Amino acid sequence: MKWKTEGHEFDKMYHEIERKHAFFLFGAGDYGHQFLNVFRDRIKIKGYIDNDKEKQGEPIEGYPCYDLEKVKLLDSEGIIVTMSQIARVQPLKQLREKGYRKNKDFFIIEEFLSVYFVYKYNKVYFSSISFLPSTVCNLKCRYCLNFNPFAKEYYIRKWDDLKADVDLFFSCVDYIMLFHVSGGEPLLYKHTVKLIEYLDEYYGNRITTLRLVTNGTIVPTEDVLERLSRCNVQITVDDYRKAVPQYDDQFDILIKNLNKYKIDYYVNKVDSWIDLAPEKTDYSNLTENELILHRSRCNQSWQELRDGKLYNCNYAAYAAVAGIAGEQDSEEVFKLTDFSKEKKKELVEFRLGYSKKGYTNFCKKCRGFTSENNEKVEPALQI
Ligand code: SF4
Repeated sequence: MKWKTEGHEFDKMYHEIERKHAFFLFGAGDYGHQFLNVFRDRIKIKGYIDNDKEKQGEPIEGYPCYDLEKVKLLDSEGIIVTMSQIARVQPLKQLREKGYRKNKDFFIIEEFLSVYFVYKYNKVYFSSISFLPSTVCNLKCRYCLNFNPFAKEYYIRKWDDLKADVDLFFSCVDYIMLFHVSGGEPLLYKHTVKLIEYLDEYYGNRITTLRLVTNGTIVPTEDVLERLSRCNVQITVDDYRKAVPQYDDQFDILIKNLNKYKIDYYVNKVDSWIDLAPEKTDYSNLTENELILHRSRCNQSWQELRDGKLYNCNYAAYAAVAGIAGEQDSEEVFKLTDFSKEKKKELVEFRLGYSKKGYTNFCKKCRGFTSENNEKVEPALQI
C-alpha cells in the first residue's frame, strides 16, 4: 500500500469504528482468542462467527458462535476478521460476496487493533512481530518460507544485537499482542532461552502472548526446560510428523517434557503451507501501479524486526537474507532509530503495510497471499 497522506491513512477507518456499537469476531481460533484477551472489556462483542460447523451453536469463551449466513449485520455493527493471513483468504472472499465492504462493514484484526489504540489512546499497539535469532535449522523443507533452500549459509545473530533490537523496539512500541520468536529452529540457537527470559522479565507486562515456535524435532535440555517453565511463554509445537516420521520419538519426548515442566504449549497441526514460488514467479513486467495493487491485495500481515528496523514484509526480508531478493531499498524499512512520539501514526501505518514505494522488490518474484494465487503444498516436505 502506498502512502498518500502519512499519519492520516486510517482517519476514515477510525471514524467508522467509532460509529459501531457492537462487533462480531469472524474466527474462533487462536487469533480470536488473542483479540478477545485485549478487547473483552473495551468494545461490545456480540459473538463469534466461524465456518467450522462444530463450533457453531456452542458458546466459546462465553460468547455464542454463529454461521455467517445466519448473521444479520446492522449498520451500527461490524465484523472483525480474527484469523491468520492464510486462514482468512477464503473468509474475506465470503464477506465480499455478501456485499460487505472492508473498513465499513468488516475490519482486519491487525488494522483494528493498532488503529483503535493509536487513535483512541495515542498508544502504539502492534498485533505481532517476527523475531529470528538465527535461520539455522535441522530440517530441509522444500517450501520453507525463510527460503533456507536458497541460502548459501545460515544467518546467526549475536546476543548483543538481539538485546539492542528488543530494547529499541519497546522504546517505540507500547504494547504487542504476539511477540513471535522463531527461526530456523530456535531451540538450536544457544541464546534462545536467555532471549525469552529477557523479554519476559523486562517487557512481559507489555506483551499479551510471548510465543516460541519449534518444529517439534528438538528435545531441549532439562536446564532449558526448567528456565522456560519460569517464564510466561507459550510454545507452539508444529506437528510435522507426517513429513518427518523419523522424529516421532523426539516429538513424543518433547511433549512429555513440556507437560512434566508444566510449560504452556500448543500443538499446531498444519494441514498445508503456501508456496510463494520465487523461482517460478516473475512480475517484473508489471507497472508501478500494478505492483502496488499486488502488494495491497496480498493478505501478508507480518513484519520482521532486525537490526533496528522493521521490514515491510517479513517474507521479503527473509528472502533478502537468503540472497534471492537483491538489496532491499530504504523505503522497505522503518528505522526505529528515526522514531519520535510525533510519528506514532506513521509507525502504525508502516506496520500495517504502508510505505512510500507501496511494494517491496521481492513482490516482483512472489505470488503473495491472495485468493487467486494460493498454491497449497505439503507442510515440511523434505528436499
Ligand atoms: S507479495 Fe510476497 S513479498 Fe509482496 S507483500 Fe506479499 S508476501 Fe510479501
